[in-house]
Amino acid sequence: MTRERLVAGVKAGVTSVHGLIAQGRGEAFDYLIGEQSHPFALTAVEAAAALLLRARHPVISVNGNVAALAPREIVRLATLVGGALEVNIFHSSKRREQAIRSALEEAGATRVLMPTKKAVLPGLDHNRRFIHPEGIAKADVVFVPLEDGDRCEALRAAGKEVITVDLNPLSRTARTATITIVDNLVRCLPLLSERVIALQQLGPASWAKSLSLYHHSRILKAAEEKIRAARS
Ligand code: ATP
Repeated sequence: MTRERLVAGVKAGVTSVHGLIAQGRGEAFDYLIGEQSHPFALTAVEAAAALLLRARHPVISVNGNVAALAPREIVRLATLVGGALEVNIFHSSKRREQAIRSALEEAGATRVLMPTKKAVLPGLDHNRRFIHPEGIAKADVVFVPLEDGDRCEALRAAGKEVITVDLNPLSRTARTATITIVDNLVRCLPLLSERVIALQQLGPASWAKSLSLYHHSRILKAAEEKIRAARS
């Protein structure tokens, strides 16, 4: 079903053909972790919910894979954390950017920020450097699922906290982010929204606790160990 959603995304002009290859890489890792949300993912989900709630200006960055796989869930998350949705794609295409915007609006988004030439993310030399002055440019926390390593590094270098979702715990993105959820996007987004609702009710003291329980290198190591154990 997930694969079909991406194929439909390509047909609708939302997802690039390169997005299919990225999905294939993700699926390979998902088989190795048994297609389940493990404790290393749940701890990261908890910390991600806390960081998004604590943020002054959270932004959710959406690419063609995310828009095809989970448009309703990503819009729901943005609404729950009071964050802006911003379109950002690797391979430059105004038409595809608009298709992603339409997919998000159809899923209930009322405001979708688009890349502009008024603000840039330093350190990138491709389409991804264009950002919105009221979105990623101002953000203190950016949620960037299924991201590439260059952009994740550029966001961190710009002083932003980065939360990602990446089934490959060895990728540059997974290693560079502040918080990495090693899980399938379609499985972890509903869990993330649930935790946002629960932690919102508990209040800021609980956010600090959830964040203190997250140790980035330990989480990545646990995910890598799970994958290596799958071989034996
Ligand atoms: P990096 O540049 O970070 O070293 P990369 O070259 O693989 O990694 P991308 O192709 O942009 O960069 O990253 C996509 C990442 O998302 C891959 O690591 C892939 O395993 C992962 N991925 C793909 N589909 C999913 C999914 N549905 N859920 C979670 N992760 C996924």
